[in-house]
Order: sequence, then structure tokens, then C-alpha cells
Amino acid sequence: MEKGEICVLVVEDESDIRTLILHHLRKDGYSAVGAADGEQALKIAGERNPHLIVLDLMLPGMDGMAVCRKIRQDPELKTTPVLMLTARGGEEDMVSGLEAGADDYVIKPFSNRVLLARIRSLLRRGGVFADENEEGKTLTVGEIRLVPELREVTVNGRKVDLTAGEYKMLQILMRRPGVVFTRNQLLDLVRGALHAVTDRAVDVQVVGLRRKLGRAGRKIETVRGAGYRIVSK
Ligand code: CA
Repeated sequence: MEKGEICVLVVEDESDIRTLILHHLRKDGYSAVGAADGEQALKIAGERNPHLIVLDLMLPGMDGMAVCRKIRQDPELKTTPVLMLTARGGEEDMVSGLEAGADDYVIKPFSNRVLLARIRSLLRRGGVFADENEEGKTLTVGEIRLVPELREVTVNGRKVDLTAGEYKMLQILMRRPGVVFTRNQLLDLVRGALHAVTDRAVDVQVVGLRRKLGRAGRKIETVRGAGYRIVSK
């Protein structure tokens, strides 16, 4: 999903704070919409089905806690992440907010960096960012199976012990079966994920992978003059 397609609803009655949060969200690439009270928030949430809701606890009329409970009761919104804004020292508020169904909280006054980091983390947890989602996906190519949750690779159900670099490379190849990756691409991708392998050549990793995977190792093909790919034959 493109960041601009991610909609964040900001519920805050103090217009200065609301405007500031909206500004930072938009500057960071999100699509953001504001609401000044609970009723308006629920109306907009129903219409826009946002990916995340930033919800101030102190609102006139229906307070943030009540809004949060309503959100959790709505079949369309019940899994939407809610990030609560609470006042410093309002530990009780924080606890009741979490009990009302909020996923996380930020204490006022907060820095925009902290707020954006929490928002990103909640979206990641909810799988909104496609790349993060893909990171955790179980992959299968023929008899090879890779389960990121367990950091486990099996061939025909038999566990294979891989180094961190070999594992990462196999994951990269398995995500795009049939696609050729050049040595430089593989090196960049593995290096980006793992500092420990910076000085190890791609070929060495592939040799290790093939040997450990046994017969299934033949699925990793050398494409002469180009690089490597995994095939499901
Ligand atoms: Ca407020």
C-alpha cells in the first residue's frame, strides 16, 4: 500500500494541536483527516474507514474513552488501531483507555517524532505496510519451506540449519520464484538486512545454501552472466 493511501483520523478538540498533528502526518506522506469531537469522529470513521485513529481522551461531550468503546463495538472499526493521547500524570486515564480498547498511548506534550514512530509501529503490527507484512510470510517453493515466525527452513519436513546470511538470501529468492537477482542486488538486499555478512561474497552463501538444502538445492539456479534465481521445478 502506498503511504498516501493510508488514512489516519485525528480526533482532538484543541484546533492548534489537531492542525499540528495533521500537518506532521501529511508531511510524512499519510493521508490525514481531523475531527473536533467524538460524534464527528465516529461519523468520519464510519465514512472513511481509517487505517488508524489518533484519539485524544479529553474531548467535550462524548470523551475519548466512550469514543474508543464505540469504535470497538463497530464491526467495521473494531480492529482499527487506536492511539490515545493522554495528559501527563494521567496514569489512571491511560489504564482506562487501554481497557476501553486503545492499542497504545502517547503522553502530552509529545514530539512529532515519537508520535510518528508510534503510528508507524501500530500500522506495522496491523500489517498495513506491505513490506513488513511480506517479511513474516511463510514461503514454499517445491519441498522447501521457510517460516519467518520460527526462523525455520525445512526440506520435506526436515529442518535445515542455515547461517543468518544464507537464511536471508533464501528468503529473498523464495519471495520471487523465477526472478533473477544479480550478485549486486543480492548483496545489497542481504547487507541491508544484516550487517554481519557485509564481507561475505554472494557466491559463498549460495554454495553453502545449495549444499545444506541437498537435492532441493538444485532449485537455486545460476543464470550465467546475470546472477541467481530459485525455480519451483
Ligand atoms: Ca483535548
